[in-house]
Amino acid sequence: MAKRKANIDVSRCVACGVCRLQCPREAISIFKGCYAVVNEDVCVGCGLCEKACPADAINLVEREIING
Ligand code: SF4
Ligand code: SF4
Repeated sequence: MAKRKANIDVSRCVACGVCRLQCPREAISIFKGCYAVVNEDVCVGCGLCEKACPADAINLVEREIING
């Protein structure tokens, strides 16, 4: 699994859908037309959505490592 994943700052997201169109994995959906949501199981951390977002609402973050 990729080390990083896309994280949406919903307070900045304007639900434009640009990130959804950019994502090569179809990992992003727009929840009830309000804000973007990332399917973390599908995201490969490529960063295309982060670059494309006009509202600077996406950051790539390290995935949490679950021990045990
Ligand atoms: S980082 Fe890449 S795979 Fe993950 S949601 Fe963004 S565009 Fe899709
Ligand atoms: S591109 Fe940015 S502002 Fe537009 S839906 Fe995606 S996260 Fe929200």
